[in-house]
Amino acid sequence: MTKAESDKRWREKNPDYLKNYYQKNKEKFREYGRKRYEKMPEEYNEKGKKYRDENKDKYREMTRIWRELNPHKVKAHNTLHVALENGSVVKEICLFCNNVDVEGHHEDYNKPLEVIWLCRKHHQAEHRKIHKRIRGRNE
Ligand SMILES: [Zn+2]
Ligand SMILES: [Zn+2]
Repeated sequence: MTKAESDKRWREKNPDYLKNYYQKNKEKFREYGRKRYEKMPEEYNEKGKKYRDENKDKYREMTRIWRELNPHKVKAHNTLHVALENGSVVKEICLFCNNVDVEGHHEDYNKPLEVIWLCRKHHQAEHRKIHKRIRGRNE
């Protein structure tokens, strides 16, 4: 049995582990997200790369857990990526500022090919809006 398999088996026996881990480390996840998304790209590349190099395992673990907690998002991104590669989906300019350097934003992860094209800045702004909305609902 490989390490990945034994990890998987262990997690199946402890289904709440990831959720608990996430709850306990919420701040760290947030910090990780902030570092990733809110820095200017150049600064992110330099400092972020150094930080990532020094904390490789931690980052890998965080990414893995995020992916396990968000399988629908991972799947949507993969589907979109394939569609872009084979040309069935074509990137458009940013909805707000006509920037051509865009990322696909999913309104509904169940419709992986239905995306809004946004530049990095407007994509971040959109996610902040969504976070606020979700938080507003919970509180
Ligand atoms: Zn834009
Ligand atoms: Zn998005």
